Amino acid sequence: MTPPTPPPFRGPWKAQPSEALLRDLERWLKHYLLNVAEPPDHRALARELNALPLYSDMGALLAIRLDGQVLTYDWETRQVDENTEGLWKVVALTARLDRHPGLMELLPARSPQALDCEVCQGKGFILLDEAPRLSCGSCWGLGWRESPCPPEP
Ligand SMILES: [Zn+2]
Repeated sequence: MTPPTPPPFRGPWKAQPSEALLRDLERWLKHYLLNVAEPPDHRALARELNALPLYSDMGALLAIRLDGQVLTYDWETRQVDENTEGLWKVVALTARLDRHPGLMELLPARSPQALDCEVCQGKGFILLDEAPRLSCGSCWGLGWRESPCPPEP
């Protein structure tokens, strides 16, 4: 995906996850590690990084550590960026909102002026026939934008 300009959000971001979310993250990671339906290489990384995978593409895997910090693992260089912010953090957090709605609290706050995203009608994802839901590339899964969608190139 190519980042939209301007980005759909302005913040602010929540500084600290709630106690309830911290407990949930620990529980979700335990379940993930035991879930044989998840890809084995993702589970191995989850164990190594002690973080719950949320999103992956050809370049990287994004995961959330048990303290709420989002990490980026680069498949090619095997480098871990421990401080993933901005659009990629939004991508990571919205990718599994269907399964873990509690991650919502870590997303940037929506201002009263924000508009529902026109592309996905405020849902944050696009449903395609016979395919898993696809995050909306215009709002990056948020379902809203602080500024109107940029015109198609
Ligand atoms: Zn959208």
